[in-house]
Amino acid sequence: MNNGKLKIGIYELTGCAGDALLILDCEKELLDIFKAVDIQSFLMASSDNRDGKLDIALVEGSVSTEREIEELKDIRERAEIVIAIGLCATVGGIQARFTDPNEWKKKYKEVYGDIEMTHTKPVQSKPIDAYIKVDYYLPGCPIGKEQFLDLFTRAVKGTLPERYPRPVCVTCKYNENDCLLNKGIPCLGPLTADGCGSICPNHNVPCFGCWGPVEGANLTSEYYLLKEKGFDIESIKKRMANYSGTKLIDFLKQFKKESK
Ligand code: SF4
Ligand code: SF4
Repeated sequence: MNNGKLKIGIYELTGCAGDALLILDCEKELLDIFKAVDIQSFLMASSDNRDGKLDIALVEGSVSTEREIEELKDIRERAEIVIAIGLCATVGGIQARFTDPNEWKKKYKEVYGDIEMTHTKPVQSKPIDAYIKVDYYLPGCPIGKEQFLDLFTRAVKGTLPERYPRPVCVTCKYNENDCLLNKGIPCLGPLTADGCGSICPNHNVPCFGCWGPVEGANLTSEYYLLKEKGFDIESIKKRMANYSGTKLIDFLKQFKKESK
């Protein structure tokens, strides 16, 4: 605390910086945010960044280099509460979908060849909880403004909100949408953490899973349902893997040997 204000740090690891940008995009609320807390570090917004103790650290991005592992561990040591924000920090993001180390090495070589990295050594991308304890997760690619403001307000008041335990389908049903799966459209709503307000199915667009997997999702059932509807195995696996980062590795491996 500083003058009764919580010390907050906002950090970006590997990602598109969309979550930090989303925070800056809260134009109407931004002055109130900066007045309510003491922002110690926020590279996208300030050149005056400090490395002291923090009440809350918000971390965006996956861990993709040895340097980021060290940076993240340092943040954890300094912060009372660590919150993962965005898909990359919570599940690893699209860059974490190469779950087999050999596949990752192959892809890495295809892109970078034999170039020697001198600044830091790349490692296979992982979500931040692969290295540190995380106190709260706010998924989304990127996070939503409404959800961020809800989290921020509650965190400042000392009560983190409930996590997002339901799949997108629940809100989709509350919104009285016709189910896209019934129309033969491959929607990932049953597998995806809710929080976006089922925004895609509300507009007749299938959910492609950008909030990451919901806990306890019935993957097998969705897999066979899509297969039954005539989608080929590779396209189902790719669709499921896109935004699941490292979280569905074991599940997807089960189907490795199935033919199309
Ligand atoms: S449209 Fe998608 S999100 Fe909505 S109920 Fe059907 S499967 Fe679930
Ligand atoms: S409906 Fe699915 S793809 Fe669309 S924003 Fe929500 S989680 Fe992302």
